Amino acid sequence: MAAQASVETVPVSATEPDGGGHELLLVRRGRRTGAHTIVAVHSTVLGPALGGCRLWRYASLREAIDDALRLSSAMTLKAAAAQLPLGGGKAVIFPPADLDVTGRSREALLRDFAETLNMLDGIYITAEDVGMSAADMDVLSGLSRHVVGSPAAHGGSGDPGAFTAVGVLAAMRACCRARFGASELARHSIAVVGLGHVGEPLARRLHAAGAQLILSDIDARKSELADELGARWLDSQDALRADVDLLAPCALGGVIDETLSAELRAQVVCGSANNQLAAPYLADVLEARGILYAPDFIVNSGGLINVSLELTGYDRGVALSRAEHIEEVLASVLAHAEAAGVTPQAAAVALATERIAATAGRGG
Ligand code: NAD
Repeated sequence: MAAQASVETVPVSATEPDGGGHELLLVRRGRRTGAHTIVAVHSTVLGPALGGCRLWRYASLREAIDDALRLSSAMTLKAAAAQLPLGGGKAVIFPPADLDVTGRSREALLRDFAETLNMLDGIYITAEDVGMSAADMDVLSGLSRHVVGSPAAHGGSGDPGAFTAVGVLAAMRACCRARFGASELARHSIAVVGLGHVGEPLARRLHAAGAQLILSDIDARKSELADELGARWLDSQDALRADVDLLAPCALGGVIDETLSAELRAQVVCGSANNQLAAPYLADVLEARGILYAPDFIVNSGGLINVSLELTGYDRGVALSRAEHIEEVLASVLAHAEAAGVTPQAAAVALATERIAATAGRGG
């Protein structure tokens, strides 16, 4: 017999790892699969909350909820910094440990999630994130109107990873200009950790730009990419500590913890992973060590910029040029940080929160 659908009421203020401020948290157990589908809406001040859906086997429901809450507040900052008319939200699908997430049970999972989406009636718009694919977005778009990122052949903008990679590359140029005096990436040593939808196209573009690459992934099969690009392959713990010009964390968040912030040797950290810093104070630790930490929600905004264009009429050329524009956005953040004597992270948060406050002040 199918599991009963259930809606769990979780007092938001009691659950937030970042001290509060979310508008909505919906935790629902799907009747088909028993999976928990979680949507956290941090803010809709600038517009509907848009953010990816992550399918992940967390250790507990508590961890899954915390991730949704953390990731959704970062989406508010990301949309605001990118000047998009969107708020911040994020979804998580947390399957039961014994549930196969392929084939028919994957479709059932997507149906359970679509019901959650439809309950929110457009307050939250979903997109692809870790563990999900453009094919999943295609299935979802047949079940809900509140979906972006379907395959290009079906009218969507497809996998956002390549656009995110274009933005990371643009951000790296801004970092190189600030740190090394010229924006060229050629001959810089760069470690890319995580070779998925973003890391792989990023590595290919960096190789084409003439960078000296170190590549790493927990999936050993990805070493084939290192062979193909003539890059050095390292275990991820070694790659994170490599003596390189730039480090690009492109796997999961929270990777820069107290230990790594004391041990990493890159001069610049500029990667796609969301919420790379395990705690906000680590931005100061890196700054004190003379390491330039590029705020992840600016660096990785290319994917959001790309899918957001679906809401107004998608144009691939516009998406690419806006992703390239991240170079100027980050350069301006770095200049503000320098002038104000604060970390780039603090300058970026200030830029985004000022935009939200200005809109809220106009009654928007
Ligand atoms: P993905 O799932 O396609 O790839 C992640 C890769 O990291 C996989 O190859 C996985 O094997 C590897 N990995 C996982 N844990 C690792 C570890 N401990 N060490 C080394 N490698 C590890 O995900 P993605 O879409 O490429 O996204 C990567 C990161 O960028 C995520 O944090 C995601 O939230 C963020 N991000 C992605 C996009 C996008 O457009 N896809 C946009 C913004 C932010």
